[in-house]
Amino acid sequence: MPLYLQFYFWLLLISVLVFTLERFFARHPHQEVIRDDFGQDLFWLLFNTQYVSWMLALGAVHWVRWLNVALFHAGVPPPETVRLLATWPLWLQFIGCFLVKDFLEWNIHRSLHRIPWLWEIHKLHHSSERLDWLATFRSHWGEVIIYKGLIYLPLVLLGVDDRVIFVVLVWSLLMQELVHANLDWDWGPLRYILNSPRLHAWHHAVEMHGKSGQNFGINLTLWDWLFGTVYWPAPARPPDRLGFADMEKYPRSVWARLWSPFTLRHRRDPLAATAPVPPSPADTKKAAVAQSQGS
Ligand SMILES: [Zn+2]
Ligand SMILES: [Zn+2]
Repeated sequence: MPLYLQFYFWLLLISVLVFTLERFFARHPHQEVIRDDFGQDLFWLLFNTQYVSWMLALGAVHWVRWLNVALFHAGVPPPETVRLLATWPLWLQFIGCFLVKDFLEWNIHRSLHRIPWLWEIHKLHHSSERLDWLATFRSHWGEVIIYKGLIYLPLVLLGVDDRVIFVVLVWSLLMQELVHANLDWDWGPLRYILNSPRLHAWHHAVEMHGKSGQNFGINLTLWDWLFGTVYWPAPARPPDRLGFADMEKYPRSVWARLWSPFTLRHRRDPLAATAPVPPSPADTKKAAVAQSQGS
């Protein structure tokens, strides 16, 4: 297989690119490259992009076989034969696949914040006190399985070309590293469509401006603007603090973090982690001005 068709080639290329951009256009110029949890985040990068995918692929073989047998007995055609977009030109397949995948992921992400036991899994991603290219990869394996498991069937039903899926994955990787980067970009008028480092930094803020958070978009902000979950302070400013309300109680070691969603600790106080921190009156006023000016 040629090098440019391998995911790890693009992972390296995109990581070097975003790391270099951070060196020239940093939001926080004094933020250290080798910061707290740098080694642990390298572990999440390897674990989530490699080992979890292997585990998932091994499990999926059995799951798909079981699903197809069940569908066969129910008289339903196998999902691979539906191929809703297969006859479309490749560029239209890309747009269709990208929109469906991103909208599903926006819904999943919103649920990860609003459903307490899912939030316990997603918390790990929000435990970064500083954002940079590497913080992108800090996620619990349960979250990777939830995303991939829930979007698998819809994507199979679309039946798009493998090359389209590959381009969608590489584009999403670029966007995810950019929105987590130590950059202060917002893409100007394109911010109504594309997710940006400035908007996603507010997603990671301790301060919340909606039910269980704001700015849930993965690649697109379109869904947040359409469904009223966007937070865009005016004048633009970065959040004061990243993380979540009770972060000092969150474990620090890899194993404790992997195990944390399955402990009973949080069930004693199930909504403490998702309880919104009320915005200050000044922020509410600024946000209202921003919404009314469409800025
Ligand atoms: Zn989140
Ligand atoms: Zn994030």
